[in-house]
This record gives sequence, C-alpha cells and structure tokens, in this order.
Amino acid sequence: MFKELTRLKAIVTGDIGCYTLGALPPLSAMDTCVDMGASVSMAHGFELALAGTEHRPVVAVIGDSTFAHSGLSSLISTVYNRCGGTVCVLDNRTTAMTGRQGNPFNGETLQKRPSRELDLEGVVRALGVGDVRTVDPHDARAVRAALKDATGTGELSVLVFRAPCVLLERTRKPAYLVTGACTACGVCPTLGCPAIAKDAETGRASIDPGLCIGCGQCAQYCAFNAIEQPEGGSHE
Ligand code: SF4
Ligand code: SF4
Repeated sequence: MFKELTRLKAIVTGDIGCYTLGALPPLSAMDTCVDMGASVSMAHGFELALAGTEHRPVVAVIGDSTFAHSGLSSLISTVYNRCGGTVCVLDNRTTAMTGRQGNPFNGETLQKRPSRELDLEGVVRALGVGDVRTVDPHDARAVRAALKDATGTGELSVLVFRAPCVLLERTRKPAYLVTGACTACGVCPTLGCPAIAKDAETGRASIDPGLCIGCGQCAQYCAFNAIEQPEGGSHE
C-alpha cells in the first residue's frame, strides 16, 4: 500500500503503530506522525488548509486499534466539517505493536476473552461516510485501483485494508524465490519487505526463505516474472 501511495505522490499523514515504519527508507512514505489519532485530524487540517486549490491527494494511514482509540472522533469532525480526503484503516485483526492485544474491532478483550466485534465499515458508514471499501492489502492491483478511485473523487472516503498480522497466521504459505530472470531492476527491494535483499555487486534480488511469508506481493511488482513460488516449496 505504501508503494502505491508514493506512486500517487500523496500527502500521507501517519499514526502510531507497526506501519509507522513506512516513514523510513526504502518506503519513506509518511509525511507526518504526531500522536494516536492524529493521522485523521491532520488529514482533516490539510484538507481545510488546501481547500479551493489544486493539491496532492491527502491520505491518512491508521491501524484498527488506533482508529478505535482516537481515529473515530477525528473522523466525526471531518464528516461534520464536510471535508474530503482518504482514510486508510489497516485492520490486521490485532493490536500488534504492543503485543497482540484485542481491540473493539477484532472481537476479543485485552484479556483475550471473547467480546462483541464492532463492524468497522458499518460504524464508518453510520458516521456519514458514503465511500467505504474493503480491500485485500496483498492484492497490489486492487490496492492501486482502490486508492486511485478513492482519492480521485474529492469526497471523503475510507478504505479498510484487512488481512491478519503475520504473527497471527500460523499456517504459512511456501516462500517465493528469485529466478535467473532477475534483471537487477531494483523494484522489489523498494517494497520494504525484510525478506528481500539486494546483492551489493550485481544488484540482483534474493529472498530469505526463513523470513518470507509467501504473501506474493513482490511477484506482483516484478515486470520480468523473475519471482516465483515453487510448487510444494516450503520455508524450511
Ligand atoms: S523486481 Fe524482479 S527483476 Fe527487479 S530486482 Fe526484483 S526480482 Fe529482479
Ligand atoms: S512473497 Fe511477500 S514476504 Fe515473501 S519476499 Fe515477497 S513480499 Fe516478502
């Protein structure tokens, strides 16, 4: 998703969570990060300040638990003031950064007891946001299309990117590998995946099978079909 935001040249207001690492190279795809919930309120502020001008898309990025904590109140203000912008809620089904605790959007309490699960998209619609979409974050084409559409309308939109944190998914898919077709184009290392390395001399990419979770995102960005998932391959 961050890769697509850099392509869009969006103003990205960030928040507090694992995804804050998107502010660092190689992604460098976050312009602000102040405190919990500030992604949505800062996007609101940018939209107010830039109103009536041609400006880059304004996109807030916030995790599910932070959204429950303080993003919702900022979104209410954005709706109330009839502002545009796009809010991306990264719903990884847990509060990963602080140790995988429950939150109101994943159906368990802090003590890991079953609880009522709030319907994230339903809550956002009930607040008055008309453009609400659910997106598979591992599908690069779907991510690109959703971001392009949502940021192109001028209206307030909320995109919910939903996929479980890799630490929750115990059944891993086979690791991908880089074949001899790699041209050292340099694209896949810019995705920020810790499993991908770039050879200092040849520039060619390689994938550490012990770190790869088989999400397949890098293969979707390789224009030379040099990244494959071997049939029956494994992480071992
Ligand atoms: S995107 Fe493909 S060709 Fe480019 S460095 Fe990665 S594996 Fe090699
Ligand atoms: S398949 Fe996913 S986890 Fe594996 S190297 Fe590619 S981007 Fe990284």
